Amino acid sequence: MIRSVESGNEALSVTWQSGGRSGFPNIWLRDNCHCAKCRDPRNGQRLFDALDLPAEPKPLEATLEHGAVVVRWAGEDHESRYPAGWLEAHDLSVDARAKRRVAHRYWGAEIANDLPQADWPLVLAEPAQELRMLEGLAAYGFVILHKVPPEHGQVAAVGDRLGHVRVTNYGQIFDVVSMPNPNNLAFTSAELGVHTDNPYRDPTPGLQLLHCLEADAPGGDTLLVDGFRAAEEMRRRHPEEFALLARLPLPFHFADAKADLRAISTTARCRHLICRRIR
Ligand SMILES: [Zn+2]
Repeated sequence: MIRSVESGNEALSVTWQSGGRSGFPNIWLRDNCHCAKCRDPRNGQRLFDALDLPAEPKPLEATLEHGAVVVRWAGEDHESRYPAGWLEAHDLSVDARAKRRVAHRYWGAEIANDLPQADWPLVLAEPAQELRMLEGLAAYGFVILHKVPPEHGQVAAVGDRLGHVRVTNYGQIFDVVSMPNPNNLAFTSAELGVHTDNPYRDPTPGLQLLHCLEADAPGGDTLLVDGFRAAEEMRRRHPEEFALLARLPLPFHFADAKADLRAISTTARCRHLICRRIR
């Protein structure tokens, strides 16, 4: 709810019922006019060229009407209407932007008994469950998904629900099986230390899905480490070394008979360090 509004040469000042204030630059407001002349009402797409706007739009008048801010622009026969909810959702202040950002939760072993989890059939059936799963994924960077049918290709169905599966040199799915002449450590029965996957790829995977179809030997635990937390700890305890790694690009490389992949990056950009421990 807006208590009052005041126009200025540079920006419009909105005072909220709570007493807080937010500034909205005039040029930004004019560019974001959502009237039917400025945006196609069917799809919200822009109908004007930004270069056709006055170089420095100024309100002739800004008033409150039914809780919305209505601006009549100087030098133009144009009126814009900004609902309070829209202004609040687009508040440009540092605090408001910080609140809108996804809150990453840094974690360690203390969450072992309270992991973000979901049931695949429930996710498919109930939007609220799917939202909960996605919120867990956004906050923790991972989620454990139960009851995905143990069939080849199901992991891609999950991937396509979350977004779109990116096909790589490994194909759509990367089958991890023990092989006699492996081109990748993942195909051996060796214990893998914590690592980020595919740093040699650009872009690196945004999200990886691991689906265990069959575990016919003891062991094979999957360990997850929060890379964000590890980085934060390093930033705190070893700031100089952290700064060096953040500044110095390093080369990453993968090669087999079919592919040669290289990327240079200051950091491995995947959040989680993954380790499969074979006992
Ligand atoms: Zn307009």
